[in-house]
Amino acid sequence: MKPFAYTRTTERGAAIQTVGSNQAARFIAGGTNLLDLMKDNVEQPDRLVDISRLELVGIEERNGGVRLGALARNSDTANHPLVRQRYPLVSQAILAGASAQLRNMATNGGNLMQRTRCYYFYDTAMPCNKREPGTGCGALEGYNRIHAIFGANEQCIATHPSDMCVALVALDAIVQVEGPQGQRSIPISEFHRLPGDTPQVDTNLRRDELITAIDLPAASAVFAPRSYYLKLRDRTSYAFALVSVAAALDIQGGKIRQARVAMGGVAHKPWRAVEAEKILTGAPATAATFQKAAEVTMREARAYEHNRFKIEMGRRAIVQALTTVVDGGVA
Ligand code: SF4
Repeated sequence: MKPFAYTRTTERGAAIQTVGSNQAARFIAGGTNLLDLMKDNVEQPDRLVDISRLELVGIEERNGGVRLGALARNSDTANHPLVRQRYPLVSQAILAGASAQLRNMATNGGNLMQRTRCYYFYDTAMPCNKREPGTGCGALEGYNRIHAIFGANEQCIATHPSDMCVALVALDAIVQVEGPQGQRSIPISEFHRLPGDTPQVDTNLRRDELITAIDLPAASAVFAPRSYYLKLRDRTSYAFALVSVAAALDIQGGKIRQARVAMGGVAHKPWRAVEAEKILTGAPATAATFQKAAEVTMREARAYEHNRFKIEMGRRAIVQALTTVVDGGVA
């Protein structure tokens, strides 16, 4: 691991200023991903600015919704009564992720900033456009079982690893950030990026901007009684999703008034299944509707040599998640 300097601050402005004035400085909070990346020489910051003591840990009501502090721990967020009651999809998704020990360290902001678990990204002997732009993509012709089936290109076929972010996308969360130019809000669906020509850039957060909070909107609480996070993986704990589905329905008299479907493990960012939502909205909440929504969604998928199974898995996962929602899949 490359030697680095360490600074701890309790001042938000000082943290932003320190990182902003040094291209090789990085924020650190829980460190559950960044330290692994540093040990493998994938990330090589020369200064870490520890923000874990900033006053950003609250979870509270805000504008009829709930504001999650960026530095609240994943475990505290998943178990908070406001989250469990109004946004159980978020609780379910967090609890499906990582181990209890990791959830106790990991923060909400850090969860958003997780980097891909593509094997070639972590192996500095292999080409990787995300780690070292212009070197190529080791996964494209390599072992690509865990890789993307939506939105990828020859630059990068990696997937985003977070479970929580899939639920946040389904619920239209808003990310609050602060930087040298002040504060701004980023819809979660615009926070993460597809690879395009810059696969090394995972998010639309500027390097010197700090995530301060995540807002769960009041309107999304309507899905609390009928939501479910389905995660399919190689083993039942401490594994990343091969395919996951965050599903939420608002049903009245057997008809779907509103629908939300987002997928994890399938794209460079949490993937909102917009076409599925169009099929579901206004339709009867039946197996035939769910099947059609799944078919339409997976029609756009493009598989690589080792991940073809994800197309059928995705189709079945959407149907299963929606069926569980109707059967009362709330935590
Ligand atoms: Fe790197 Fe992306 Fe290719 Fe993985 S898929 S090797 S992260 S460029």
